[in-house]
Amino acid sequence: MSASQPDLALRGTLLRFRGDPFEMPPDEALDIETDGIVLIRDGHIVETGPFARLKDRLPPGTGLHDYSNCLIGPGFIDAHVHYPQFGVIASYGEQLLSWLERYVFPEERRFSDPGYATQIASAFLDALLANGTTTACVYCTVHPESVDAFFSESQRRNTRMIAGKVLMDRNAPDFLCDTAQSGYDQSRALIERWHDRGRQLYAVTPRFAPTSTREQLALAGALLDTSGTLFMQTHLLETTAEERWVRSLFPERRSYLDVYDHAGLVRPRSVFGHAVHIHDADLHRCHDAGCAIAHCPTSNAFLGSGAFDLFEALRPDRRVHVALGSDIGGGNALSMLRGMNDAYCAAQSHDRRLHPVQAYWLATLGAARALGLEASIGHLTPGIEADLCILDPFCTPVLAQRSARAESVADLLFALSMLGDDRAVRATYVMGVRQPRPRGWARET
Ligand SMILES: [Zn+2]
Repeated sequence: MSASQPDLALRGTLLRFRGDPFEMPPDEALDIETDGIVLIRDGHIVETGPFARLKDRLPPGTGLHDYSNCLIGPGFIDAHVHYPQFGVIASYGEQLLSWLERYVFPEERRFSDPGYATQIASAFLDALLANGTTTACVYCTVHPESVDAFFSESQRRNTRMIAGKVLMDRNAPDFLCDTAQSGYDQSRALIERWHDRGRQLYAVTPRFAPTSTREQLALAGALLDTSGTLFMQTHLLETTAEERWVRSLFPERRSYLDVYDHAGLVRPRSVFGHAVHIHDADLHRCHDAGCAIAHCPTSNAFLGSGAFDLFEALRPDRRVHVALGSDIGGGNALSMLRGMNDAYCAAQSHDRRLHPVQAYWLATLGAARALGLEASIGHLTPGIEADLCILDPFCTPVLAQRSARAESVADLLFALSMLGDDRAVRATYVMGVRQPRPRGWARET
C-alpha cells in the first residue's frame, strides 16, 4: 500500500484482548469497545478507541466503513491445513491411513501440474478469506511446483501465509516420493525463493514420521538450522494405528515425539498437527521446547481419530502452545467458527467447558503467540498488520434470533461459533484492504 493511500476507519464493536483467557477470568480477558473505531494507515493499525472520542479527530480524507452491529476482530489463524486436499473434502468412508491411500494421494499427484496447482491454490485462498482466515499454516505437496503456485497466489493477495513442500521418501506411492537429498535441495531452493519474501514464510514440512526415513528427518533438522525464523510442521499422534506404526518403524525411540526430537525438529515455531493421543512426558517436552500443537477437532471428529484433551495440554505447570486448525481435507470446514464449535464439543467429551473467549483466543491471538507472530498479527493493537475479520451476528434468521437474546459479547461469540459459518463473515481485510467476495459466495460485501 502506498503512503498516499487515505487512512481508513472501521466502526463497530471492537474485540481486543486485555490478557490471556486461560490465565485470567475469560470474561475479563476481552476488552470490548461497543461503539469503536479501528484506524488503519499504510496497512497497519494505528489507533483504536471509542467512536465518540475519535470521530472528530480522524485525518481529512479518512474513509469510514460502518460495521455497526458487527464485531471487529483480528483475522482468524488456521494452524494446520492442506490446500491440495481442498478438492477432496467431504470424502466418504475411511479413517486416516486408508483415507490417505484412497482419496488424498491420487489427488496430490495432480499437483505436479503448475496450472492445476495454481487453480486450486487460488480457489483455496479465496475460500480462506471468505471465511475470515487471513493466515494459515499450509501443507503443499511433494512437488516444488505446488509451493511456487501457492506462494505466488498468496503474494498476489498480500496474505501472510506459512507453507512448505511436503517431504516423503518412503511408504507412499512412487509418484509422491522424493529422496532425502532431493527433498533437502528442493526445500532449500524454495526457502531462498520464498521465506520472508513480502509476507510469505516457509515451513519445513515432513508429512509425518512414517513417510520419512531417518536420513530425511535429519536433513529436515539441518534445514531448520539454516535460519531461526523458519517454521516446521508435521503430524503427530493423530490415531492409535499411526502410533503403532511409528513404534514399529522407530523401535529405538522413546516415543513418537522423540522421533522428531532426535532429528532436531522439536523447537519454537514447530507446529505438530493433532497430538490427540499425546502422553504426559511428551507434553512436558513440548512445554520445555516451546513448540505448538495444532488442535484440529473438526478433522478428528470426521476421521474418527479421537478427541484431543485441550485442557490437559494447557495444564498450568507445563502449558503447551495450542492453536486451532481446520485440517482440510481431513476436516470438512474451513470456517474457524466451526473449529471453535468443534473444539467446544471435544472439550465437552472430556467434561471440560471451553469458554467462547478462550475459543476465540485459540483462533486469533493465542495462535499468533503459538507461532511466534504476535508482533505482526492476531490482535487489534497499534503497530499490528491490519488483517481483520468482521463478524455479523445477525446474518441468518436462526443466528439473528439467538443473538438478539445474547447477554454479553462473549455470549454473542458463543452463538456465532455454534451457529455461524462463512455467512457470518461480513468482510475480511488484508493489510487494510477489504477483500472482494469471490464469485459464487453468498454475500456481497
Ligand atoms: Zn493434516
